Amino acid sequence: MRMRQFSIAVRNETLPLLGETAYDVLVIGGGITGAGVALDAVSRGLRVCLIEKSDFASGTSSKSTKLIHGGLRYLKNFEFGLVREVGKERAILHRLAPHLVRPAPMLLPIYSKGTLGKVSTAIALTLYDRLAAVKEGERFRMLKQEEALELEPLLKVKNLIGGALYKEYVTDDARLTLAVLKTAAGMGADCLNFCRYDSPVYEGKRIAGAVITDEIGDVQYTVRARYVVNAAGPWVDGIRKTEGPLSGKFLHLTKGIHIVVAQSDFPLQQAVYFDVASDKRMIFAIPRGDTVYIGTTDTTFTKDLDAIDIEQAEVQYLLNATNSAFDKLNLTTAMVQSAWAGLRPLIGQRGKSPGELSRKDALFISGSGMLSIAGGKLTGYRKMAEKVVDKVVQHMGATSSCRTDAIALSGADFSVPVDEYIERRGGEAGQVGFTHEEIRELVFRYGTAVERMIENGFQLYHKYPDAAQRKIAAEIQYAVEHEMVSDLNDFLIRRTGMLYFEIERAKALYPFAASHIQQMVHLPVAEYQRRLKVFETTLTAAASHKNS
Ligand code: FAD
Repeated sequence: MRMRQFSIAVRNETLPLLGETAYDVLVIGGGITGAGVALDAVSRGLRVCLIEKSDFASGTSSKSTKLIHGGLRYLKNFEFGLVREVGKERAILHRLAPHLVRPAPMLLPIYSKGTLGKVSTAIALTLYDRLAAVKEGERFRMLKQEEALELEPLLKVKNLIGGALYKEYVTDDARLTLAVLKTAAGMGADCLNFCRYDSPVYEGKRIAGAVITDEIGDVQYTVRARYVVNAAGPWVDGIRKTEGPLSGKFLHLTKGIHIVVAQSDFPLQQAVYFDVASDKRMIFAIPRGDTVYIGTTDTTFTKDLDAIDIEQAEVQYLLNATNSAFDKLNLTTAMVQSAWAGLRPLIGQRGKSPGELSRKDALFISGSGMLSIAGGKLTGYRKMAEKVVDKVVQHMGATSSCRTDAIALSGADFSVPVDEYIERRGGEAGQVGFTHEEIRELVFRYGTAVERMIENGFQLYHKYPDAAQRKIAAEIQYAVEHEMVSDLNDFLIRRTGMLYFEIERAKALYPFAASHIQQMVHLPVAEYQRRLKVFETTLTAAASHKNS
């Protein structure tokens, strides 16, 4: 097994060698779907290259609600098989990455005039617990009105007749994607960010690779591969069109936005999944750190995929829905700290509204053999990958089966339960000035790789007498050396989520972080300045909730 460092330096060394390598599989897209395919394929012994035109998880896979769903909403459409599958997946993902996929109780308030009834909710949750094989101790519980209010005193009291408490799992979508990619890279896959697919390469009538562009060096390369997998999420149809006009299935993109407010403005005690009185949809309010994020919307999107804007009306819709469900609040746009928007790459079904479109995945194979996979959810990425790689292996005339359910993700090699692990790290972390809360946050982010951060903290002790600066410098060093970070955007948006969940800290830190990353990465000066501008624009946009 080849062990490669996951850094921009190694990426740059790999690029000139691409032409000399005969890959089995070229994966286009470094979101969760592409990452899953890369890991599944490399773990079956295939030679894999994955290219991502921007940073890993910069598409939908950093813009979700960040839940590993048990699939409760599928019950409405009687998709029992799907509930069974995602329930099982959820348990597997928790086992493979317990620091990244963590249980969180979800409260469903029930109102006398709401969309949920007490009896129908109890029946649905009983079915859900059975189908999804929910463990004892995590099964749902029906609540009386006073119990629901005790859990969440901010709930509107009028017409509240009770509630239900069930288990959801929360994650960090971008970090989950990165953990899958790092695991794949650790097994020998070449995973390259800032490399764009341009056009197909053929041998006879069969697709046999692609021409790609290194977006940092602005150089084109040809990658040869026996199979090309298009896992470009919302861009899947765009990639398909490089082979000719679309035929058969097509994507229907829907936009979902989330807003972030401070806990001090919305002191939510726990995650809540609530009715929107105006249109019978349901949205989530989920506490994260010192913030609460609220989402999401679901509207058809037909504009520029690379410039997803957030309309003021969308923000207002979420604020109104929240103020109505928690009527002691008066959230205003001025309280929105940041916001993001993402696109669901759903499979088109004529005549259906966004909310009615199935979240099922679909695989389409072009005449030349390009395999395109879209639809689905973050939660089901492993099964989607299995479907694709089974097809590749079957075409190769080989036999191998998926074994990713037994491959712990990068950073998940815990020898004790995560909480105990956090306690054990406390002493040494204290010596480098990391607080207990910071260590907890770092373990949830990096898993056991926190040990590298502590080592970095010791090395940087004298260089950075200020503990906050030392911590961020230790994190940056790790991110550059082991997480293929090349700029501020990668670090403050995808690797740490700081832009959305700690925006004031991001504002204060970014000049220091930018120059520190640049000292290690040495981007061409013009490129460094361009990316710094991109960050500043994104920061302003996130804060003014006009852009994603
Ligand atoms: P993406 O993450 O978009 O990845 C595709 C990648 O391809 C992108 O990074 C893009 O840059 C790259 N690419 C595009 N063109 C090229 C090219 N020419 N060359 C190279 N690379 C290219 N699912 C859940 O399970 N739980 C949730 O809570 C949840 N909430 C959601 C909320 C919202 C608002 C949305 C929009 C989705 C949500 N989902 C959720 C669904 C889930 O996020 C998506 O199904 C999943 O992230 C899609 O991943 P992907 O890898 O297919 O696409």
